[in-house]
Amino acid sequence: MPPAVPEAIPPWEELAARVRGELTRSAGSLARVRGDGSHLRGDPGGLLTPADPEDVVEVVRWARRHGIGVVARGAGTSLDGESVPATGSLVVEFTGWDRVLEIDVEERLVRVQPGVVNHRLQEELRGHGLFFPPNPGSWRSSTVGGNAATNASGPRSLKYGPTRRWVRGWEAVLGSGERLRAERRAPKRSAGPDLVGLLVGSEGTLGIFTELLLEVAPLPEVRQAVVVPLPGVSQAVPAARAILRGPKRCAAVSALEFVDATVAGLLHEIPPGRLPAGRPLLLIELESRERSRGEDLAELAAALAGLGLDGEAIEFPNADEMWTLRGESGLALDRAYGERIREDVAVPLGAVGRLFQEIDRIAEELGVPLYTFAHLGEGSLHPNFVVDPASPTAERIRRELFDVVHRLGGTLSGEHGIGSLKAPYFELEHGRAGAEALERIRQQFDPDGILNPGKLYPRRSAPAGEGAPPHARSPSVEADGRTPPA
Ligand SMILES: Cc1cc2nc3c(=O)[nH]c(=O)nc-3n(C[C@H](O)[C@H](O)[C@H](O)COP(=O)(O)OP(=O)(O)OC[C@H]3O[C@@H](n4cnc5c(N)ncnc54)[C@H](O)[C@@H]3O)c2cc1C
Repeated sequence: MPPAVPEAIPPWEELAARVRGELTRSAGSLARVRGDGSHLRGDPGGLLTPADPEDVVEVVRWARRHGIGVVARGAGTSLDGESVPATGSLVVEFTGWDRVLEIDVEERLVRVQPGVVNHRLQEELRGHGLFFPPNPGSWRSSTVGGNAATNASGPRSLKYGPTRRWVRGWEAVLGSGERLRAERRAPKRSAGPDLVGLLVGSEGTLGIFTELLLEVAPLPEVRQAVVVPLPGVSQAVPAARAILRGPKRCAAVSALEFVDATVAGLLHEIPPGRLPAGRPLLLIELESRERSRGEDLAELAAALAGLGLDGEAIEFPNADEMWTLRGESGLALDRAYGERIREDVAVPLGAVGRLFQEIDRIAEELGVPLYTFAHLGEGSLHPNFVVDPASPTAERIRRELFDVVHRLGGTLSGEHGIGSLKAPYFELEHGRAGAEALERIRQQFDPDGILNPGKLYPRRSAPAGEGAPPHARSPSVEADGRTPPA
């Protein structure tokens, strides 16, 4: 009798034997990581909490051998399917990787594991008089790994810029299985392209962070805030221009936000009802020295004088009180409106007025309720269309909105990312040649297309194109993504 051919070990058993971390395929555990903050849901094949970076290397090598997708996951708060696993993928969860490894107060650098929650990092830094400037609305739950992978930003990005500005290095496992460290401890560098920045915003498609080196900033002495009621939406951009770019601009402003009358109505309902109802509002934060508190407020008032703003401004000596109110409006909006499209587009400040008009037109033509809030100073708008996000109407809204934004010289995502929801529009953002160049870069980092399949790239020439295995299909958008859905 010929010797028996040894049976191939099934892929998941092989993985279990190779890693030290906890691997589970139980339905309950997988159900927990099927989705993110969007309406999309995936069908993962397994969930692993890696024990160490070597586990992540093992995972990637295993995934390449078997053609199985690998999705890094932080807190799962992304809003466009960024962390929703393609069918059969392995989810690699980092929430347990939450240690702050080093705080170098002198150089203003911190080394962290990617699963540390933004809020907890801020707590640890406060005692040293420091903070990490990127402050997405989800900062109480989202991880810095997720923040870096999506290039997240928040209200204070007006002054401090997005996460990319603050990531000074990482250790990552690339899609090739190579473990690579790239960092810049010197405050500046002019030595070739920016390898560190390349992985920031790549949504886990080029490499998986196992460590991050972050720059941090000194805490400002005073953060105060002012809410300014506007007669109407059309006054928002002139006011923003006057504050940020006018001859009497106010240099202390670190955040300049907008909420429309609908959101203002909900803010008014929140006790003690300090904010007026019925009008759009500007929410402004100022960073001051204790001794220049009053001067900075006077400078802001001077910048706004002559614009015909007749409402009474409301001052918050501690800016956090204003942000807490604004944060609560999110919950109130969830209760009041439920499912909706939470868009995230950005245009040059000069085009924001036009964008407001176009958003209104789209909502009106389709008979869809709309409310909008915005990181106005950065031209970054979150129009919320109250419609089933999986419906054909929702797709039509996205297509029309992205066309408008493209014509206005803007971007499909100011801060949330592309995920799988916007992947079919990637070419609209970058142009055909640009999208192809990015795709070629991805192929160098991830030759088999195993990292977060179906996200970001059109994947024209990747193995995940037509006839791709099921793992390469994103939850709601087919992976080849050549044509934006009609
Ligand atoms: C209420 C609410 C408010 C929000 N406000 C904002 C806001 O103001 N600004 C903003 O920018 N976003 C905002 N978001 C979106 C979201 O919170 C951010 O994109 C956040 O950065 C995601 O972090 P996370 O830990 O949840 O990442 P996840 O959702 O788990 O993952 C996001 C992406 O990062 C990748 N990733 C995660 N960990 C790693 C890793 N270790 N290595 C490589 N890739 C990894 C994932 O694969 C995925 O592509 C908000 C979301 C909600 C629900």
